[in-house]
Amino acid sequence: MGRQYDLIAIGAGSGGLSVAERAASYGAKVAVIESGQLGGTCVNVGCVPKKIMWFAANTAHTLANAAGFGFDAEVRRHDWPTLKRRRDAYIADINGWYGGYLERAGIELIRGRARFVDARTVEVDGERLGARHIVIASGGTPTIPDIPGAALGIDSDGFFELEALPPRVAIVGAGYIAVELAGVLAALGSQVSLLLRKDEPLREFDALIREQLVKALRADGVDILTRTQLSAIERLADGSLQLTRDGAAPLTVDCLIWAIGRTPQTAALGLDSAGLKPRADGTLSTDSFQNTEVPGIYAIGDVTGRAPLTPVAIAAGRRLADRLYGGMPQRHLDYSNIPTVVFSHPPIGTVGLTEDQACEQYGAEVRVYTTHFTPMGQSFSAHPRQTAMKLVCAGDDEKIVGVHAIGDGVDEMLQGFAVAVRMGARKRDFDDTVAIHPTSAEELVTLR
Ligand SMILES: Cc1cc2nc3c(=O)[nH]c(=O)nc-3n(C[C@H](O)[C@H](O)[C@H](O)COP(=O)(O)OP(=O)(O)OC[C@H]3O[C@@H](n4cnc5c(N)ncnc54)[C@H](O)[C@@H]3O)c2cc1C
Repeated sequence: MGRQYDLIAIGAGSGGLSVAERAASYGAKVAVIESGQLGGTCVNVGCVPKKIMWFAANTAHTLANAAGFGFDAEVRRHDWPTLKRRRDAYIADINGWYGGYLERAGIELIRGRARFVDARTVEVDGERLGARHIVIASGGTPTIPDIPGAALGIDSDGFFELEALPPRVAIVGAGYIAVELAGVLAALGSQVSLLLRKDEPLREFDALIREQLVKALRADGVDILTRTQLSAIERLADGSLQLTRDGAAPLTVDCLIWAIGRTPQTAALGLDSAGLKPRADGTLSTDSFQNTEVPGIYAIGDVTGRAPLTPVAIAAGRRLADRLYGGMPQRHLDYSNIPTVVFSHPPIGTVGLTEDQACEQYGAEVRVYTTHFTPMGQSFSAHPRQTAMKLVCAGDDEKIVGVHAIGDGVDEMLQGFAVAVRMGARKRDFDDTVAIHPTSAEELVTLR
């Protein structure tokens, strides 16, 4: 029969750790099974190392603007290996901290790959473990296309392993990871081509954001190649890669990065044995309480295909534990109005409906307020980066249903505005809020 627990989480990433910690805090006997590094994607090959690279790139932009403020500063070079060494050490510290944290929380860590035996039992390295509640939080891995030579490229995991800055890089993808890596590499000195299957990056974002982002990427020297599909990759004698494009001349680069999406880690879970069937794309469907179709089996985080972000996985995990052990039978995550930031240069912050989505939902009752301006901090730059903002309002009382911004500082600005949107703020609430001056944020409460 094997060891028995109240709850088993498969995966020690953002979701698995959160549900485990909250369940243990209520006194449940909990185990977490992890086949890789503690902390999952976010800590090891996601948010954390990515944000460190963003800070490095932002520093490059600040240094480029220093002359405008009177500095006679010369930057001779950037040392990638130093940055990588310090970043890796920072992450190793977090991994170490997680080990102690599980112990302190009374959670048992089981190293290995879990596979269902039945709906109440999983097997890890031949050992059977049983639980009344099993939470699948196995996340995803980068998707590599099925074309000749695709394995000559790397993915976002491989980006964090690069030992040197590649001089010429092609990034394939239109999502936020593609955009963020393009910004980092361009700022640190690579010649970057961004290859899009269609016409624009971040297609699900508001039109204002997309337009401004394309301008910002181009201003930073990123070559955006639209309507581009690769059909084959070959390594040339000098070590570079030749990318064959449909209907255009080949492209030669030193590094190719696939950022075309992520594949949920469900194929090796033995879902059949538990009576579970994933969707065609491998994600697991859940109701609003994170229940799968098999009672006692839940799914949280990226594996559900819903809002794949760390705080979403954490919030879903904590609420699930509150429901199962905290005496809160209705506790669940509301997936609307989830704020999100893209760490581009400048960053993007957005919450709620785009203008197009609001028009679809509310028809003629939608009113938008927009602004474009040069923020004061960019005024002395040789190439000032613009800020743009949009409020999307709906109904007679102009309820704010969307806030979209791109510009310096919007990454830190958005969290507070997300609270206001969640609470149902009206445009008049924004108008009645006294501005903080001089900031970019004040523009959002003074829009006419
Ligand atoms: C480059 C990049 C940048 C990102 N930046 C951001 C950001 O800025 N902000 C943000 O909010 N989100 C960001 N994300 C997304 C974020 O990392 C994920 O949404 C989050 O990590 C999802 O958590 P999770 O628990 O669902 O899965 P994961 O964190 O992926 O954890 C899943 C864990 O399960 C383990 N596992 C899988 N199968 C098994 C098995 N059978 N047995 C045992 N263990 C198993 C895996 O090894 C992994 O450790 C980024 C992602 C990437 C790739």
